[in-house]
Amino acid sequence: MQEFLVTDHVSKAFGALRAVDDVSLQIGQGEVFSLIGPSGCGKTTLLRMLAGFDLPDRGRILLHGKDMTALPPEKRPVNTVFQNYALFPHLSVWENISFGLKMSGKGRAEIKAAVERMLGLTRLEEQAQKRPAQLSGGQKQRVAIARALVNEPQVLLLDEPLAALDLKLRQHMLSELSALHREVGTTFIYVTHDQGEALSLSDRIAVMNEGRVQQVATPAELYESPANAFVAGFIGDANFFRASVQEMMPGGFVRVQIDGLGRPAVISVPDLKPGDLVRVMVRPENLHLSLDRPLASERVNCAQAVVEEVIYFGAHERVRLRAGMQIMHIQRSGNECRTAIRPGDAWWVTFQPEAGRVVGAGD
Ligand code: ATP
Repeated sequence: MQEFLVTDHVSKAFGALRAVDDVSLQIGQGEVFSLIGPSGCGKTTLLRMLAGFDLPDRGRILLHGKDMTALPPEKRPVNTVFQNYALFPHLSVWENISFGLKMSGKGRAEIKAAVERMLGLTRLEEQAQKRPAQLSGGQKQRVAIARALVNEPQVLLLDEPLAALDLKLRQHMLSELSALHREVGTTFIYVTHDQGEALSLSDRIAVMNEGRVQQVATPAELYESPANAFVAGFIGDANFFRASVQEMMPGGFVRVQIDGLGRPAVISVPDLKPGDLVRVMVRPENLHLSLDRPLASERVNCAQAVVEEVIYFGAHERVRLRAGMQIMHIQRSGNECRTAIRPGDAWWVTFQPEAGRVVGAGD
C-alpha cells in the first residue's frame, strides 16, 4: 500500500488526560478507513487534528508526504461531515451544496454541473429546492455528504455520520455510502463507535482505547485474529477462558488446561511454552452443543455445562451456559436451532482447536 495520509506519532492531551497518545497510522489513497473505539477513546480528537480544527501537541500529519500539521482547515484538501449535519437552515439543498464552490469563486456553469452531479449521486434531485427543515434525517445526511464531496476533497472525514438515524435507515445509508465511495473513490475516514458500521463499510479499521491504537487490520482480521482481549471484546462477542499451557503438540497446536473445564483443550497457536498462563477467546458461533461426549481421539474440545438461559432473536438464538465458575455464550442459527434446549439441561459444549485464539496473558 502506498502511503497517502500519515499520522506520525501524533499526541494530544487535555490537562493530564492523554486524549490521543502516540498514534501512527498509514492510510492508503481511496481507502475507507475507520476509527473505532468506546466513547472517550480519542476518535474525534484525532479526526479534528486531521481536519485542522486542533493542533497536535506532538507528531506530524502528512498528506502525499507533505507536512500539513499546522495548515488551517480551509487550506487542507480535506472536508468533514459532522454528526449533526451542520446545514445552513435558510438555504435550499441546491444552495447548501453549491455554497463552497461559490465561495471559492467558481463559474456558474461549473457550479451547476458539479451540483447536478452531486444531486444525482446522492439521489437528491427531487429535493433540490427544499430547505433542510423539509427533509428527512437520511436526506439531510445526504445533503451534508454532497456538500462535503462537491469540493472534491482528497479526504472525506465522517464523524459518526449515521448516529442520528434509526436502525433501518442506518443500514440503508451504509449501503448508499459504500456505493458512493465506489463512485467517487475519495479516501474516507470514518469515525464510529458502532462496530457493525465499521465492519461492513471499511477496508481497514483502527481500534482505539484510551487514546492509543490497539490494532489496525481488515474487518476479517480484526474479527478472526484480534491482537488482544480488548479488541476481541470490542469487535463482536467473545467468550474468554483463563488457561495454562500444558504441552506443545505437532502442527502448531498446544494443549491447555482451561480453568473450570475438566478435559484439557487443544488450541492452535505458535510461540507458547509449557507453564504460560494465557487468555483464550472463542467466538459464540464457534461453540457448539452436543448430547454425547466427543471421543478423545476426535481432537474436539469439550466441557459439560448446564443451560442457564436461552434468548430468541429470530434468525439466531443465544444460549448462556455454566461449567463450574465458567460462563459461556453460544450463538446458534439455522439447523442448529432445531434441537430444543431448556434451562437446566446438561449439554456438552464443543469447539474445534482452530476456533480458540490466545488474546493475551492470563492472570
Ligand atoms: P465519543 O465516541 O463519545 O465521541 P471520542 O472517542 O470521540 O468519544 P474524544 O471526543 O476524542 O473521544 O475525547 C477523548 C477524551 O478527551 C475524552 O475523555 C474527552 O472528555 C476529552 N476531551 C475531548 N475534547 C476535550 C476538550 N476540548 N477539553 C478537554 N477534554 C476534552
